[in-house]
Amino acid sequence: MMELNKLTIAEALAGLRSGAFTSVELTQALLKTMEASQKDIHAYVTIDAEGALAQAAEADRRRAAGEDAPLLGVPIAVKDNMNVKGQPCTASSRILEGYVAPYDATVIAKLRAAGAVFLGRTNMDEFALGSTTQTSGFGPTENPVARGCVPGGSSGGSAAAVGGDLAIAALGTDTGGSIRQPASHCGIVGVKPTYGRVSRYGVVACASSLDQVGPMTKTVEDAALLMNVLAGPDPMDATSLDEPVPDYTQAWAGADPERPLAGMTLGIPKEYYGEGLDPEVRALAEDAKARAIALGATLKEVSLPHASYGIPTYYICMTAEISANLARFDGVRYGLRVPCDDVVEQYRRTRAEGFGAEVKRRVLLGTFVLSSGYYDAYYGRAQKVRTLIRRDFEAAFAECDALLAPVTPEPAWPLGAYQDDPIRNYLSDVLTVGVNLAGCCALALPAGQTKAGKPVGVQLIGPNFGEMALFRVAKALELKK
Ligand code: GLN
Repeated sequence: MMELNKLTIAEALAGLRSGAFTSVELTQALLKTMEASQKDIHAYVTIDAEGALAQAAEADRRRAAGEDAPLLGVPIAVKDNMNVKGQPCTASSRILEGYVAPYDATVIAKLRAAGAVFLGRTNMDEFALGSTTQTSGFGPTENPVARGCVPGGSSGGSAAAVGGDLAIAALGTDTGGSIRQPASHCGIVGVKPTYGRVSRYGVVACASSLDQVGPMTKTVEDAALLMNVLAGPDPMDATSLDEPVPDYTQAWAGADPERPLAGMTLGIPKEYYGEGLDPEVRALAEDAKARAIALGATLKEVSLPHASYGIPTYYICMTAEISANLARFDGVRYGLRVPCDDVVEQYRRTRAEGFGAEVKRRVLLGTFVLSSGYYDAYYGRAQKVRTLIRRDFEAAFAECDALLAPVTPEPAWPLGAYQDDPIRNYLSDVLTVGVNLAGCCALALPAGQTKAGKPVGVQLIGPNFGEMALFRVAKALELKK
């Protein structure tokens, strides 16, 4: 008997189209495993069984009437920082407890129009601040593959849902690695699209100049199928760009099956293979390089000379933006309110009670780097270094089609490790934040497992709107199940 919860999007669509099963049957199979896994994995903050079954029944009715759509009847999980009309949306923060989304984010409206079924909201680091999903106000998520370890973060719930067969696919957001790093830790595919490729309207802002929504899926083909629906300009988001949207599933069409990467040059950024890289992570990246050569690619060493400034630059820019974006959570407009006669005192108490420790730390840091005495020394200077980092990537892409590198310096940590060491957490983002600072695109792809059975990914980094190249390389390098 086919286990429906294990299907990919492509397999689910084939089964729905041939009538092998209905969307209601598929959704029921998922809801059963989702609910059973909540006690240990805890991938979801909320499960919308009733809503999902109603949407699935509607998809089945449409299909029976002869309709089809790109995702008609396919159940998807959504990170808890995107508005899905009628569902709670908390960004895993206590301060948003009780808030119900009054409208659909543009990405959700697009998925809804494509026929997707919304299973529920996945757990995340509070306001997407973190890399382990342990800063969630609602408790941690466990890695479904490397048991006893974190799933990564901040989109850890989405990665655990897909990696643990608790969703067919999921959406995440990536501000400094939050799609790629958990994808790598849970053995799935994750795409951080080019800044402006996907609308941010209706997504709880983390750091607005860095955030992008992207797919988290079991296969490269599924990621391309979702990108076909998600990408494109949006009048509601002035930073979305009016670039034509290709059919991403055509990225690998016509490639020579023996040498699908013939004619492509992959850059190897030497700074991303430096000291501090776990030996097993390094070995799996070397393995991916060897496979790329065997598949016809030419490898070329390139340099990103400002890579070591990535972490300080990112943690100045992002904390500055988060301190501004979180100012709206004051107990007046949304969610939690700790009532008090004095309004300023009410703000204070609400924020003191509603925000967790990591959120407070970042708001303080951001307020500091933006304060009049320190603006030039920190924020102003970080903006300049950000430009240098972007130029590094531009120079590298003059020499190659895409870069190939590890995603994280180490495999997933045990649950609970380094929880009182924020710097240790921040440093683990060293290989992902550069992409967001530069605005270009990247894709994390499973590369194998450590001896202890922990999944490890590699990332492909492409120039602005270079997603087609990433999909072509990823499809060729994808390991067969
Ligand atoms: N781990 C990074 C941070 O803590 C990235 C977060 C993200 O991409 N949302 O900021």
